[in-house]
Parts: sequence; structure tokens; C-alpha cells
Amino acid sequence: MKRINIAIDGYSACGKSTLARLLAQKLHYIWIDSGAMYRAITFALLKAQIDLENRKAIEFYLKELHLDIVVDEQKCVSQVLLNHQVVDQFLRNMEISESVSFISSLKEVRLFAVNIQQKIGQRKGIVMDGRDIGTTVFPQAELKFFLIADIDVRAKRRLLELKVQQPLISINEVRKNIEERDHIDTQRKISPLQRAYDAIEIDNTHLSIEEELNLVFDLVNTKFLK
Ligand code: C5P
Repeated sequence: MKRINIAIDGYSACGKSTLARLLAQKLHYIWIDSGAMYRAITFALLKAQIDLENRKAIEFYLKELHLDIVVDEQKCVSQVLLNHQVVDQFLRNMEISESVSFISSLKEVRLFAVNIQQKIGQRKGIVMDGRDIGTTVFPQAELKFFLIADIDVRAKRRLLELKVQQPLISINEVRKNIEERDHIDTQRKISPLQRAYDAIEIDNTHLSIEEELNLVFDLVNTKFLK
């Protein structure tokens, strides 16, 4: 059966990763979380105490950085390896969320990440979620989705996830960070967050994840699997 690439883009905390992971499992494809790559780069820069205003230092640091995506075919997922170590458990906190959009707006960082993403896309059978997958990473993706949802619903969903690790976090803090990231992501010069002209928009404000997954799976099925 023909294997395709599926791009899922959208604003912060719209449930892109959850949908991408479940869809990949249903199709026996591999889910790639491109946001985790930008988070891993941010984590590495912060850990190495690189001055984030110093573009030359960032560029130099990226040349030495090993960032790999390892694929688990059985589980249909992938993990980010930073200098050969799994770092997933360190990436979803507010410290990283506060710097990641600035770091992601830098040309050298985007070139570095997009290059890895495009290489992995050559294998096909990828569901990748992010901000520029349908526009820049896989402009030829056979199917593209663009997710939107009400900001209050997004903030509540993200708060529930973050509370596990950071019980003291407030809804206002989470909402502010989502709005700030959306602002930087949509306004940046290089591959800003925007809907690809051929992406299907889904507003999931009032949809359960099962409803959304069924909707998307039916579209994949009708267009490509039948
Ligand atoms: O998807 P996630 O919220 O983890 O992404 C973290 C940040 O990484 C985003 O706010 C955005 O600044 C950046 N990002 C990006 N391009 C992508 C994926 C993520 O610029 N394809």
C-alpha cells in the first residue's frame, strides 16, 4: 500500500502531538514531534549557558551538536537524542517554553532542524506535527491538516499536562506563554506559522480526541488507503 507523509500544523497547545501520535499508531506510521527538536536545541543551549543574544556562539554550538531522531517501529513513535542521550523527559517545562520560540526564530536553528526533518521524511509513512511542516518541511506532503482551538480550551488542556510536573503553575502563566509563542511563531521572518494553502483546517474546540481522530482517519482512508 502506498505510504504517504502527513503534516499537522497549528497554534501552540492545539493538540497536534496527541492527534499525530494516535494517527501514526492507527496507520502504523511513525510520529515525529518537530517541536521536541526545537525544545531539545533550546535545552542544550540553556544547559551550555550560551548567550542567546550571541548568534555566532549559537551557530558555533550547533556545529558541535549531535541531534538525532531514533525511530521505534513497534510503537510508531520517535525520540530525540541529544549528544546520544534521550532528553524527552526534560523538554516540557516552562523554562524551555519561555525561550523556545525565540530560539526557533533563528535562521541557523531552523536550517539545522529542517534538514534533519526532511531527511527522515524520505522514508515516507511519517506523521509530523509542528508549525511549518505543510509549508516548508514537506510542502509536497500528500495530506496536510491545520488545527485551531479556542485559547481558553487550549490553556486548560495544557495546564492539565503541566500540573503533573509543575503543580504550582497557574492558568494565567500557561495562557500567557501560549499567546507569546503564537505571536513569535506567526510573526517570525523565516517560515512563520501559517496554514498551507492546501491544508484542511480543523477546529477541535468542541471535539473529543476520538472524534477528531476518526475525522482525520476517515479522510486519510478515503483519499489514500481505499
Ligand atoms: O510543538 P511545541 O509546542 O512543543 O513546539 C515548541 C516551539 O517550537 C513552538 O512554540 C515553536 O516556537 C517551535 N516550533 C517551530 N517549528 C516547528 C515546531 C515547533 O518553530 N515545526
